[in-house]
Amino acid sequence: MKKSIIFILALVPALAWGQSHTLKMRKWSLDTVYTQTQHIVGCTTPGSVVTFDGEPVKVYKTGSFGKKVDVKEGDNTVVISSTFAGQTVSDTLNMFYTKVRPERPQEELPLPIFTSLYVETTEGAYFNYGKGQDRLGGAKVCFVDAGIPLEVVEEYGDLYKVKVAENKYFHIPKEYTSPIEEAPVRDVTTNNWSVTNMGDFDRVAISLNAKHPYTIRHELSDKSIVLDIYGAQCNSNWLTQRLPLGMVKYVDLEQVEYDVFRAKIFLNDYSWGTKVYYEGSTLTIDVKHQPALTLKGLVVGVDAGHGGPTSTGAVSISGLKEKELNLEMAYTLKAELEKKGAKVVLSRKDDSGMTMSERKKIFLDNNVDLVISIHCNAAGSPLDVKGSSTYYKYTHNRPLAEAILLRTLELEGVVNFGLVGNFNFSLNGPIEYPNVLVETQFLSNPEDEERIADRSFRDAYMKKVVKGLEDYLKSLK
Ligand SMILES: [Zn+2]
Repeated sequence: MKKSIIFILALVPALAWGQSHTLKMRKWSLDTVYTQTQHIVGCTTPGSVVTFDGEPVKVYKTGSFGKKVDVKEGDNTVVISSTFAGQTVSDTLNMFYTKVRPERPQEELPLPIFTSLYVETTEGAYFNYGKGQDRLGGAKVCFVDAGIPLEVVEEYGDLYKVKVAENKYFHIPKEYTSPIEEAPVRDVTTNNWSVTNMGDFDRVAISLNAKHPYTIRHELSDKSIVLDIYGAQCNSNWLTQRLPLGMVKYVDLEQVEYDVFRAKIFLNDYSWGTKVYYEGSTLTIDVKHQPALTLKGLVVGVDAGHGGPTSTGAVSISGLKEKELNLEMAYTLKAELEKKGAKVVLSRKDDSGMTMSERKKIFLDNNVDLVISIHCNAAGSPLDVKGSSTYYKYTHNRPLAEAILLRTLELEGVVNFGLVGNFNFSLNGPIEYPNVLVETQFLSNPEDEERIADRSFRDAYMKKVVKGLEDYLKSLK
């Protein structure tokens, strides 16, 4: 008899003492909406029965739930009710649907520069292709060294448009420039080159008459580095390659336009890191040698995304904070890598805020072999968008990103959001070490959230990241 009473009690949902039954809607959309299908998500006491206008919906283990609702033009009302242990709480959502979107603010017009304006790059400078903007800033070409003189032709808000060759322009944030008096030297000639094995890296030195703007690109197809030097003409009649070299297979050149000179550096494999800088007016490219292709002894930078009071990252439907999940997963990844003999360098070690350049500095100072950044994702259509994804900016990091993504897709229930290239995330920008951004799951999607809320899933995911890294190393052997 006693037994059966306990049984019955266990079947009836109950609230812990002092706990109250709650229903919290996440306001993904505003009161006025401009699309017909609205993703309505919320969170309630786990185990509740939730209805949308009387129709029941699935409630996940986290207490999160969601439904896509088609609204009609004009006023709409949706009543969401949650019942737990005989208690019912409700919320009414009012939405006004109109197809007429508010007018966008007028685009900023370019300001022509009427008098000559010259600037030089400062520490941390980079070129953007154009004046386009998105969530992570405008599309970056690459970082460039400090002290490079530039001619400004226009300004747009925070950007200067600079002319680097007869038919070539870039944009640069004003904050990474300082004014100079003299115009940049035009028609620089390139002089002799040398390629020398320096022990841990090969040094390519291209002698020029003056510092000139350049861009760097990595080619996946032939594992090469392509450097364009603007306003320069070829007079390099000696390319001295001091054999044996470590990572550089050979070098070559091409005058692609009258005033654009191209240096081509062919590698034995995907780049393990390149530093580009001027020594005087010699453009210097240090190409790191390949490390031993095993986790044992490899120095891996692990970055837990966000942190501190101002960068929480995404917040899940039920209130999980991305910065906390990221940090815990970073420590799990560290432990898993260390088991295999890798040396791990963490960017942030606790819940403290850290800028992207501080993170990059830690990795550079510790001479890491590669960097993995751990994040959780979020999207505006929470019920459609889900899955695991990895990101890179430059193509030489694509094989690494792909290897990790494929392993994470082996986890039960995990769908493929995609392998994303040319991603503008700051920590995908460095070329001094290979890097990949791992977006584990979408905190905005109730299914993904249910998985990532589970500690054993997070641990399993990090083990898959390690497996992916091992696959990548194996593929290079
Ligand atoms: Zn994030």
